[in-house]
Amino acid sequence: MSYKSGRHFLQIPGPSNVPDRILRAIDNPTMDHRGPDFGIFSKGVLEDLKKVFKTTGPVIIYPASGTGAWEAALVNTLSPGDKVLMSETGQFAALWCELAKKLGFVPDFIEGDWRRGAPADAIEAKLAADSGHEIKAVCVVHNETSTGVVSNVANVRKALDAAKHPALLFADTISSLGSVDFEHDAWQVDVTISCSQKGLMLPPGLSFNAISEKALAASKANSYARSYWDWSAMLANNATGFYPYTPSTNLLYGLREALDMLLEEGLDNVFKRHDRYAEATRRAVQAWGLEVLCQNPDEYSSVLTAVLVPEGHDADHLRGVILNKFDMSLGTGLGKVKGKVFRIGHLGDFNDLTLMGTLSGVEMGLSLADIPHQKGGVAAAMSYLTDA
Ligand SMILES: *Cc1c(COP(=O)(O)O)cnc(C)c1O
Repeated sequence: MSYKSGRHFLQIPGPSNVPDRILRAIDNPTMDHRGPDFGIFSKGVLEDLKKVFKTTGPVIIYPASGTGAWEAALVNTLSPGDKVLMSETGQFAALWCELAKKLGFVPDFIEGDWRRGAPADAIEAKLAADSGHEIKAVCVVHNETSTGVVSNVANVRKALDAAKHPALLFADTISSLGSVDFEHDAWQVDVTISCSQKGLMLPPGLSFNAISEKALAASKANSYARSYWDWSAMLANNATGFYPYTPSTNLLYGLREALDMLLEEGLDNVFKRHDRYAEATRRAVQAWGLEVLCQNPDEYSSVLTAVLVPEGHDADHLRGVILNKFDMSLGTGLGKVKGKVFRIGHLGDFNDLTLMGTLSGVEMGLSLADIPHQKGGVAAAMSYLTDA
C-alpha cells in the first residue's frame, strides 16, 4: 500500500474519529492497577461517567465491546427461560435478540420494517396482555445504528407504567450516549448499555452497564451462572476505584479525557451540535433527490443518516468508489438493507468542515458511481450551516 496523504475520513457510525487529545491521553505509560494512584484516578472516572448517563447510580466499566455489555445486562438480572420483549428496529435489535436466545432467554420480538423506532403502543399492549408477568424485561435500542432511527425510550417507560408491569427496562445507548440526550434516572431505565467507540470518541474496547436499584436487587436474587460479567465483584471493587480483574488502563486514560471534553463543551451543546449536522445532512440528501431510510421525522437520528440508493443501484459499489477516490469510509448497509443503503456517520469529534468534507465526498462519489441524483446537496448543507 502506498502512502495516502491527508487524513482518512472515518465517517462510519462508529468507531468514530478519535480526537488527538484522546490519542495523546492514551499514549501514557500503563500504571499499576492495584496501586494507590490508580484507585484515586479511577474513582474520579467512575464518578464523572455517571454524568453522561444522567444517573446517580453505579456505572460498571468492562474491558469489552458493546456486545459484552448486552450480555452482562441480561445474565446479571434474568434467569434461563425468562421472557424478554424486544422490538425489531434493525440489525442491532436483531443481534441482541439472537444473543438473548443463545443465552437461554425467550424473546418476544415485535416485527418492524427497519424504518421506525420501537412502537410504545404495541409494547404497552403486549405488557397489558401479560397478566401473569412472565415478561421480565423490555429491551430497546435507543439509536438503531443500522437504520438511523431513534426510539423514544421515555415513551417506552410510560408504556410500562401504563400497563402497571414490573418488567425491567433495558436500553442500548451504544451509539447514542454522548451524541443524543439520554436520561437513565429520569426515564427510570434499569440497565443502560453503552460502549466507548461511538459518541464517546474512544477506540473500541470499553463497555458499560448503568444500573438502577431495581436492577441491582434483581441481580442479587438471580442465580444465572456468571463470572466475568458479574456485577457484585465489580461493584465491591469499584467502591475504592479498583477492579476484580485487570481494567483497560490506557483506555481509561482516554475515557478521562473524553469525559473532560464532553463536560467542557457541555452535554446540551454536544447534542445541539449533533442535531445541526444531522439536519444539514438530511438537507443534502433531499437536494440530491435521495431518500432517508428513517420515515418518521420525530425519530431522525442525529448520530447518522442512512440513505437509500435508487432501485437497481448498489450502495456498496458507491462506498467502494468513495473509499478509493477520496479515502473516506461510509457505513455499509447491514442485514436486510445490505446494498440498499449507505450510512453517513456525523457523530463524535466533528465540526462544520468535517461535515462539508464528508458531504462533498458523497456528492462527488454519487457522480462517479453513476447514481442518479441532482447536484446541490453540498450547497444546501452549506446554506443551512451558514444560516443556522
Ligand atoms: C455498535 C453497536 C453495537 C455493537 O457493539 P460492539 O462494540 O460492536 O460489540 C450494539 N448496538 C448498537 C446500537 C451499536 O451501534
